[in-house]
Amino acid sequence: MFFKRKNLLVLILCMLTLIFTSCVKTAPVTPPAAEPTKGQPISKSDFLLGTIVEISIYDKQDEAIIDKALDRIREIENKMTINNAETSEIIALNEAAGTKEVKVSADTLDVLERGMYYSELSKGRFDITVGPIVKLWNIGTDLAAVPDPKVLEEKVKLIDYRKLHVDRNNLTAKLDDPDMQVDLGAIAKGYAADEVAEILKQNGVQHAIINLGGNVLTIGGNMQDSPWKIGIQDPFNPRGDFLGIASIKDKTVVTSGTYERYFEQDGKRYHHILDPRTGYPADNEVASVSIITDKSMDGDGNSTSVLLLGLEEGMKFIEGQKNIEAIFITYDKKVYITSGLQATFMVTNPDFTLMN
Ligand code: ADP
Ligand code: MG
Repeated sequence: MFFKRKNLLVLILCMLTLIFTSCVKTAPVTPPAAEPTKGQPISKSDFLLGTIVEISIYDKQDEAIIDKALDRIREIENKMTINNAETSEIIALNEAAGTKEVKVSADTLDVLERGMYYSELSKGRFDITVGPIVKLWNIGTDLAAVPDPKVLEEKVKLIDYRKLHVDRNNLTAKLDDPDMQVDLGAIAKGYAADEVAEILKQNGVQHAIINLGGNVLTIGGNMQDSPWKIGIQDPFNPRGDFLGIASIKDKTVVTSGTYERYFEQDGKRYHHILDPRTGYPADNEVASVSIITDKSMDGDGNSTSVLLLGLEEGMKFIEGQKNIEAIFITYDKKVYITSGLQATFMVTNPDFTLMN
């Protein structure tokens, strides 16, 4: 579901929207100053990993670097998608569940391991074996509907990351129960963003912005070497309105929000981040959370975990880790930030109150 390609029309519409405004929830708010001699950045976008991907390089005028990065994202998508059985190692893993281990690439193994790490850290609130209930809800597709509670209850029993095993020496992975399913929807984008950053840096890029939907990653600062200004999405006005600005250099901003993918039934809203304890969407005071850290995959693991943990537990979860900062936005329009963000983040929309 997560990687499902939208039809061509949606893609074209999104591309057009992207050109005129911005189709993503987190984005640079002011065009960073251009390099004095060379003018505008070079920039390319594509629809990959179920989202609009945009790479902008401000120093090197070499499109081949962006092409190389986009190819790398395609390679990651092919291995981890749940929509293409010919290429996907995750589909192979899910199909062999309960029977045997399957060969996986180092890429897939890395993401599985990191996913297992966050599953453990969040005590199973984040769980990469959430696949059976993701499939059942179909959120993000035309088939989305509230499932039969009895069926949901049965599927919930299948979720258990401790029954996923990886073997780094032999590059294999295995699921214990035949009906289990891995879903990397919460973290594959982060992995891809980090890989793109590596490729750009290896090719000498020192000033760039990588945007994969809710994952923004900056390389260096802007051309004046000042921090990039990244807009934090207003979760109640999700298409292009910001509630605040984070000033960052060489960091990633990763947002998970309940507004991102949802459907409504009988006047109630159901979003795409599901609680493995109940099978239903996370239901607490947090409307969205943005994580600021070095690696986008860590941003991913933390943003989804914290959205499930809620404000109080989520705050402790973040403060208990080094070098991870967070911005929590609650349904009553209050903004809570971790201690390390005092000088980095400011609220710009007066409808929101920054709490101390
Ligand atoms: P987005 O896709 O908007 O960036 P997230 O990064 O928070 O949002 O990922 C949400 C996706 O993660 C869902 O679409 C689903 O594929 C998967 N998912 C849903 N619930 C969980 C969970 N409890 N643990 C791990 N992954 C989840
Ligand atoms: Mg994510």
